[in-house]
Amino acid sequence: MDINSPLVERFFRYVKIDTRSDDESSTHPSTAKQRDLTKLLSEELIELGLTVDYDMEHCYIYAYLPSNDPAKALEDIGFIAHVDTSPAVSGENVKPYIIKSYDGHDELLNPKDFPELNNHLGEDLIRTDGTTLLGADDKAGIAEIMEMLSYFRNNPDVKHRGIAVAFTSDEETGNGTEFFDVARFHAKQAYTVDGGKFGVLEYECFNAAGATVEIQGRSVHTGSAKGIMINASRVANEFINLMPEDETPEATEGYEGFYYLDRIVSECDHARIEFLIRDHDLEKFEARKEFMKDAVFTINERYGMDLCKITIEDQYPNMIMYLKDHMDLVERAREAVKHAGGNPVSEPIRGGTDGAVLSSRGIPCPNLPTGGYNYHSRFEYASIPEMEKCLEMLVFLAQ
Ligand SMILES: [Zn+2]
Repeated sequence: MDINSPLVERFFRYVKIDTRSDDESSTHPSTAKQRDLTKLLSEELIELGLTVDYDMEHCYIYAYLPSNDPAKALEDIGFIAHVDTSPAVSGENVKPYIIKSYDGHDELLNPKDFPELNNHLGEDLIRTDGTTLLGADDKAGIAEIMEMLSYFRNNPDVKHRGIAVAFTSDEETGNGTEFFDVARFHAKQAYTVDGGKFGVLEYECFNAAGATVEIQGRSVHTGSAKGIMINASRVANEFINLMPEDETPEATEGYEGFYYLDRIVSECDHARIEFLIRDHDLEKFEARKEFMKDAVFTINERYGMDLCKITIEDQYPNMIMYLKDHMDLVERAREAVKHAGGNPVSEPIRGGTDGAVLSSRGIPCPNLPTGGYNYHSRFEYASIPEMEKCLEMLVFLAQ
């Protein structure tokens, strides 16, 4: 592997542009600086021969490269990545640094802290200087998509499908698809290129809902409270005690769902408890909602009045519901991983992806790896050989 590979050069160019999003902001994009990257990408896409439809207001790019196969036997395929980096860690003045032939000894990346590193001995890795994140999430994905396009540009004899590309903003604040215009995106099926370890394909995520429990207490002077006061804080505590203790994020893994107690705001007169409900299985997911409604009923019975109310709002669906009729997409991705010398594995996402929302809007969208690790952290790194394999995978999928 040549360290001065075009892919790595490209990746360095993108990570040096600060695109940190801001979850406190009420605008979209949440930070104007995300446009610094979309502007550059629009120009580069045009140079690569794509038609570019740039929604500057919302900071989205939709680009398209028609198929060069006169038979046009294959359907268009899409690739999607996001330009923003996590609000959690600074993305300013990122100084990517290459560790040549990683031997387990590095001031920042220690296999004791991050056992995954044992799988990367001997590889060339890219890390930060320890003060910022790297931005492999998701600029590794962007660089790989762009380099795939560059490959087809430089190898006009290689036949490819029509390729639709979208770069989105504010994925990290949960608003990545808010203004995504399906009609402006050329493909009817796509991949998000926003995963981690090479070989891992993601096409199942949680079903997600948020539940808010409101408790109306009765506040009176403590001196004359006997038999009159209803302390909403204490009722909130009772309610929480009705929830299963071992069905929490910290006690579950794999396909196990949970209730996450996200926030309690309470005083004697009124309390509000916010939960997140998560489950891969739709039936269990619905049962969790019913369980919470039953708990509300139990509390109201106990007090003989309707002092407790619940509202539940769905957040995102498990994408498998929409993908199960498009498993050829996943099958192709498995082939692509093997073609690039890897071993395809699927892992259920314990969260959601933009692909989940897009799948529900009619663009089935599994998630592909990028070769990045330790996302949203100063210890973020990327494996150069894995990035190269991810690039090979994309080239395969576009053919
Ligand atoms: Zn991401």
